[in-house]
This record gives sequence, structure tokens and C-alpha cells, in this order.
Amino acid sequence: MIIIMEPSATQEQINTVMRALENKGFKTVLNHGDVMTVIAAIGDKRLIEPHSFQSYEGVRAVKIVQEPYKLASREGKQEDTVIEFSNGVKIGGKEKPVMIVGPCSVEQDIEGLLRVADAAKEMGCQFLRGGAFKPRTSPYDFQGLEEKALEYLAIAREKTGLLVVTELMDTLDLDLVCSYADVIQIGARNMQNFKLLKAVGKCNKPVILKRGPAATIREFLLAAEHIMYNGNDNVILCERGIKGVDNTATRNTLDIAAIPVIKKYSHLPLIVDPSHGTGRRYLIEPMAKAGLIVGANGVMLEVHHDPENASSDGAQSLNIPMFKKVMKDLNKLIGRIDYDNKHSDNNDFCCINV
Ligand code: PEP
Ligand code: MN
Repeated sequence: MIIIMEPSATQEQINTVMRALENKGFKTVLNHGDVMTVIAAIGDKRLIEPHSFQSYEGVRAVKIVQEPYKLASREGKQEDTVIEFSNGVKIGGKEKPVMIVGPCSVEQDIEGLLRVADAAKEMGCQFLRGGAFKPRTSPYDFQGLEEKALEYLAIAREKTGLLVVTELMDTLDLDLVCSYADVIQIGARNMQNFKLLKAVGKCNKPVILKRGPAATIREFLLAAEHIMYNGNDNVILCERGIKGVDNTATRNTLDIAAIPVIKKYSHLPLIVDPSHGTGRRYLIEPMAKAGLIVGANGVMLEVHHDPENASSDGAQSLNIPMFKKVMKDLNKLIGRIDYDNKHSDNNDFCCINV
């Protein structure tokens, strides 16, 4: 249930409504938007008569949220969420799309990582990604350098000023990963690891939540809801491909249509990952562009200094010259993107004038 307050409602009136809801066992979340103040009330609506709240002073309207995800839903918060980092980088809404690039795994050779980080910086990227704890299909494959990798990422951040994104696989590593990362990644395989979602919900770092390989959009947004319900509103969704009918031509099926669909139903920032989404180097550039054109707030790309010898995901990783070439093109496109006229109710998600 959502309670929309009058623009003139006083803090006391807002508090009275929130207290009344909380006394009925509801959890309340206050959202002071630019246009209006909204109270999201989450709980068992059989315990109250929602429309009785209409009579409270300062209340403009009471709305029952139809979507099962409340906090992630645009019904509850119309304005896009924009996440701002300490260095001023912003992601979401009408902000310029961001680039998150780096190797699949951080490897022994720190020089390789630093070369990728330097190239990322040179091309105007904002984030360096790299796996320290790797979720591998086979136990015989490289599992990640763990804390050593986190140290390497911190060195690369020191050198370049890029923000660090790395995956968390286990609640036991939460404090360690948080002590190094600027953004915690929850990988596709863990999208419904509810204990992990709860744990990152209680931490104070933004979270990139990747869509599970077989997850519906509803399940994806409900996974984000778990993080938000536990206290962390800074969730960045990531479309990274789902299981399709053909896993020979491409590794996954990048669900481009999911981008405008998710933008319609949720206010959260959303990025696209064409590297895992396709598994093929030659598809990275066109699919990154497609994602941006339909409204993605950023792109995640795998880049390796020597993809042929990478410990993981070499086939989908760009080498440094390829990456620079792709970035030149993406930067041109990003320069043409205009989110100003885009909103969820006119179904116009093409972000460049074509
Ligand atoms: C990754 O980002 O390297 C990764 C393992 O991604 P995903 O969880 O999308 O497979
Ligand atoms: Mn990878």
C-alpha cells in the first residue's frame, strides 16, 4: 500500500500516519520525492482497512500496489533512483550511462590488471570490475585469488581513481569484500540466494544484482526487493542474458526487451552486460549499443590484457585495442543519448533521436 501525502503535509502529519501504520505491524518506508512525498507500507493488508488512512490529515490518496515488489516498483516511487558515489559519479535516471569494465577474474599478473585499468581510465570509464571469488560451473576451473585479488583491485583504484566492483558469493566474506569494494556484485547464480540478499541488504554498499539465467522479470525484481526490504535502496539491476533455446550460437540470450520492461516497472538503475549475455566477442559492441539505445544506465564489459590466456571467460573478453575501439564508438553513442523525453508512461524508450 502506498500513501501519497499532500505537498503541504507537515512532518508531524507524516509521522502520525507512519506511526499508525507501524502500530498495525506495518514496515514503513518514507520517500521524499521532488514531486511528492510517499509512504510505502509493507505488511499484511488484511489487518487494516487501507482506505481508512484517507481520512488522516495531510493524506492525498491511498493506493494499493498491485506488483508483488513494492519498494522496487515504480508504483511506489515514480522518480528514477540515482545512486551517487563519493567521487561524484552517478548512475540512474537521466545521468550519462556509466561503463564498468575489467577482467572476468583478477589473476596473478597485477600488471595485466593495471594495463586494463589504465585503458579504462583513458577511455572515460568509471568502474573497474574483476572477480576475486569466482562462481565456476566446474570445481576444476580457476576459483579466484580471493583476498589477493581484492588487494590488487585496491591498488588499481589507487592508481586510476576508478571505483571497484567485485562479486560476493558467501555471507562469510561480506566484511572482507565490503572493506575493499565500492560496489558489491551479486552474480546471476546467486540471484535467489536469499541469505546473501539479506546480508547485502544490511550493508552500506551499492549492489549490482545480476539477473538469474532462468529468472523471470518478476523474480528478478523480487530479488531486488529482498535487498531493499532489508535496508539497502542502492540496488543496480543487471541484465546479463538468460537461458535460450540455442546455447551454441551464443552463450546466453541477452534479453534486450527486458530493459524497457524493467524500466517501466521499476525506478532502479539498470545496466546491460553483453559479455555474459552473448559469450561472443563480436557481439559485444552491437549488443552494448542496443542496450544503451533502449535505456540502460550503463554497460558492463569484460576486458582482458591477454584474452587467449585468461583464467576465465577469455572467449567473450575484449583485448585492450579492441576495447578502445569499442569504447570510441560507445562514447559517440553515449554523447547522443537523450533521456530527457523518456518516461515510463509513453512507452517511448528509444533514447536517441533516429
Ligand atoms: C561475472 O560477472 O564474471 C559473472 C560470473 O557474471 P554472471 O553472474 O552474470 O554469470
Ligand atoms: Mn565472467
